[in-house]
Amino acid sequence: MVKVQDGRCGMCAHFGENNPGDAQRLVQIRVRGEAPEDLLEPCGHPGHEGLHLRVSVLGACDGFTPAY
Ligand code: SF4
Repeated sequence: MVKVQDGRCGMCAHFGENNPGDAQRLVQIRVRGEAPEDLLEPCGHPGHEGLHLRVSVLGACDGFTPAY
C-alpha cells in the first residue's frame, strides 16, 4: 500500500470516473488515503479523451480536480 496525497490521481475526481464498477473501491481509497501501489484506473478528464489514458494512484497533472 502507498499513501495518496491531495493532488495525486488517486484523489482526483477523474480517476476511474468512467469505471463505475470500481466506485466503492475508489471511495475507500480517498477516505483512507492509501491504495495498492500497482492500481491503475482510466482517467476521465475531457482533455485526455480518446487517449484511453490509464494512470497510477500516484500520478498527477494540471487537470487535477478534487474528488470531494
Ligand atoms: S491524470 Fe490528471 S485528470 Fe487524470 S486522474 Fe490524474 S490528476 Fe486527474
